[in-house]
Amino acid sequence: TEDRPLNFIEKIIEDDLANHRLPNDTVVTRFPPEPNGYLHIGHIKSICLNFGLAEKYHGRCHLRLDDTNPAKEDMEYINSIKEDIHWLGFDWGKHEYYASDYYDQLFEIAVRLIKEGKAYVDSLSAEEMKEYRGTLTEPGKNSPDRDRPIEENLRLFMEMKEGKYPEGAYTLRAKIDMASPNINMRDPALYRIKYATHPRTGDKWCIYPMYDFTHPISDAIENITHSICTLEFEDHRPAYDWATSIDGIEHTPHQYEFARLNINYLLMSKRKLLYLVNNNFVTGWDDPRMPTISGVRRRGYSPESMKDFVARVGVAKVEGVVDYSLMEFCVREDLNKRAERLMAVLDPLEIEIDNYPDGKVEYFTAENNVEDPNSGTHEIAFSKHLYIEREDFMEVPVKGYHRLYPGNEIRLKYAYYITAQSIEKDENGNVIKVHCTYDPESRGGDTPDKRKVKGTSHWVCRDICTVAEVRQYDKLFKSECPGAETGNYLDDLNPDSLVVIPKAYIEKEAENAKVGSYFQFIRNGYYCVDSKDSKPGKMVFNRTCTLKDSWAK
Ligand code: ATP
Ligand code: MG
Ligand code: MG
Repeated sequence: TEDRPLNFIEKIIEDDLANHRLPNDTVVTRFPPEPNGYLHIGHIKSICLNFGLAEKYHGRCHLRLDDTNPAKEDMEYINSIKEDIHWLGFDWGKHEYYASDYYDQLFEIAVRLIKEGKAYVDSLSAEEMKEYRGTLTEPGKNSPDRDRPIEENLRLFMEMKEGKYPEGAYTLRAKIDMASPNINMRDPALYRIKYATHPRTGDKWCIYPMYDFTHPISDAIENITHSICTLEFEDHRPAYDWATSIDGIEHTPHQYEFARLNINYLLMSKRKLLYLVNNNFVTGWDDPRMPTISGVRRRGYSPESMKDFVARVGVAKVEGVVDYSLMEFCVREDLNKRAERLMAVLDPLEIEIDNYPDGKVEYFTAENNVEDPNSGTHEIAFSKHLYIEREDFMEVPVKGYHRLYPGNEIRLKYAYYITAQSIEKDENGNVIKVHCTYDPESRGGDTPDKRKVKGTSHWVCRDICTVAEVRQYDKLFKSECPGAETGNYLDDLNPDSLVVIPKAYIEKEAENAKVGSYFQFIRNGYYCVDSKDSKPGKMVFNRTCTLKDSWAK
């Protein structure tokens, strides 16, 4: 990614640096999540951008918890946000800030604005305020309270703070311009009354500052140079610039907007994700089907693959929808390089090798990862009783079928050639066992006479193996744009997004699998150990993704 062209924000930064426009020639960015939910894949783009710029230009990136909406915020969310950023490999050092830490300063600034006649206490209801605000084509009207005397504004604002009035009774508004072509400049609200216990300030406050007031001033207090946000804030920029130019604010940060990340098949709105969690459509924020960072981590995506993905998407000023398959492509590329290969049989059919000695066990050595010569090896047990995948046997083969069928010889990967001799069926006519013979001279995968076999199957020793639960995850939604057709995204939930295999047979080595390691079950897909439900002796593996894109058009 180092030789890619500069994105538009990097160009701005390099120009600012070249012209010494930044205090101490230092780039300072911030990642400002609102702790009202878990971070999602869209946030990865913002995290990589903000922390990535700080790294690239040897500046710093602050973690700012934008906690100005006490009703929706929670410590659980704050902790998850920190864990997720660390997982991506970024660190804010000592620069952990909370918008709520600035409540005193914001309050003082508000008082100063009132004293200077630049803010007033308004008694219009939310509804009336909306009506007075006007529209894109019509200027707004002044509130009857707009010319309230300064002394009265001060008294009312203090009383608001003291809890004398119910929610909605009054609002503090900036006195800017009700005829501004930009609606966000028509006397924006600065403070509202809210009786809610804040996770950090408790019940100290019953008035809370609004986002458009808090965010720019927090940026100014922290000496942020480049305040990067998504495009929907573009027409808030005049309000941002108004706030940072209030008398007495010494540092002037600048806001820049980029296109948010949208991915088809995924919902990335904390509000909708919270709904899925609260109504048990998923098992939690970290359900492996959730597009949250904790969800994809539990699903087995690597942080490197997610960073590669957002780097490929790039930073632009035009919104678009990125293909889910690009994300999975990045996951597969990365896991192919690092995943340890194991053999697992998910849909077992028993094999008995009639001419193999009873009770004998021998071991074959397998490379952990054929893509990585330094990955080491492990041993795989082999005996008379094995499992292969049911789909690797056909009693009556279709044309072109090269795997096991009566009379046909195949290779068992790493081990021997076997030939199917006879079949055992249950009372319903289902094949329950295939009797085979093996060629002792084919040990390791070929024979002295160099005869060819067309099919190779993976297998697992019936008696020396790991029996585990395997969770076959797929997309949570079955349509590219959930809800587009009926207006309700719940209509597009994929009923097959999770298929549980209670007993899968995996080679013994799987017992050593750790949470956070990556595996490929040969021919079946990429897998990881479930971080919540897997226990020694009762392991649970999650399918990260299939080996190929089965949804490709
Ligand atoms: P949501 O609508 O999902 O609640 P949000 O924008 O309200 O998202 P914040 O917690 O305020 O969530 O976001 C923190 C930062 O991440 C903001 O700077 C925001 O612009 C950015 N961000 C949020 N969603 C995306 C996205 N899909 N792509 C890129 N950046 C995003
Ligand atoms: Mg937000
Ligand atoms: Mg939000």
